[in-house]
Amino acid sequence: RHVPEDITTLLSMTQPMKLRGYQKWDTFCDAVSNMMSNTLLPADGKGVMVALRPVPGIRIEQALTLCRPNRTGDIMTIGDNRLVLFLSFCRINDLDTALNHIFPLPTGDIFSNRMIWFEDNLISAEIVQMKQLAPEQWGKPLLVASDTKPVLNATHDGHVWRRVPEPLRLLSDAEERAS
Ligand code: C2E
Ligand code: C2E
Repeated sequence: RHVPEDITTLLSMTQPMKLRGYQKWDTFCDAVSNMMSNTLLPADGKGVMVALRPVPGIRIEQALTLCRPNRTGDIMTIGDNRLVLFLSFCRINDLDTALNHIFPLPTGDIFSNRMIWFEDNLISAEIVQMKQLAPEQWGKPLLVASDTKPVLNATHDGHVWRRVPEPLRLLSDAEERAS
């Protein structure tokens, strides 16, 4: 089937919004700058970018394991001891609501410092800065086998975070057989 060229261009421009979750530093920067230069998206309404620095004692890689975006278009990266999140189409007044959906713990317990950018040219200027960061400073997610337990066993049901109950047998098989 023939797809007109302008439709293909249109589709490719929306690709960054199809990403979700952790991205490598350079991929993150490219995705956000692509969104900022996309004239089809609302001016100064594309989303909010927030950089978070962990409290002393928490490594940035550990903080990353607590960052669980649900919405397609919500992406994050780590580097320079910061976790940087881009929340697509989030309004600045809704930032705390969105962060509460994304982190199972109050962000104040995990991070001691945050910086926020929410206008196209401010986000773009920060991305220019971020692109200067040497690859040695980029963070690497902890290698977690897919079957290992998450740090905090909780899921977000659309309203609140809930602990996931784990079945626990009080008697061992051996004791049961003996009775
Ligand atoms: P999505 O945007 O990728 O969001 C995936 C899941 O993240 C949602 O699953 C929901 O659990 C959570 N989520 C995302 N944004 C919000 C939010 O602003 N508030 C809350 N409370 N939760 C949020 P869910 O609800 O099953 O929706 C599945 C998909 O259906 C969404 O994928 C989105 O594509 C669409 N959708 C659902 N409701 C809406 C809506 O009100 N507006 C829009 N534009 N799309 C919606
Ligand atoms: P919004 O995107 O205009 O969504 C307004 C309300 O529509 C949300 O209120 C929620 O009740 C519902 N809604 C929107 N999308 C979804 C969805 O995919 N699934 C479900 N179940 N409900 C949805 P809420 O949750 O109080 O969020 C208020 C605002 O906070 C949202 O306005 C958005 O700007 C921001 N926000 C909340 N959660 C997220 C998130 O996970 N990611 C991003 N990027 N923004 C979020």
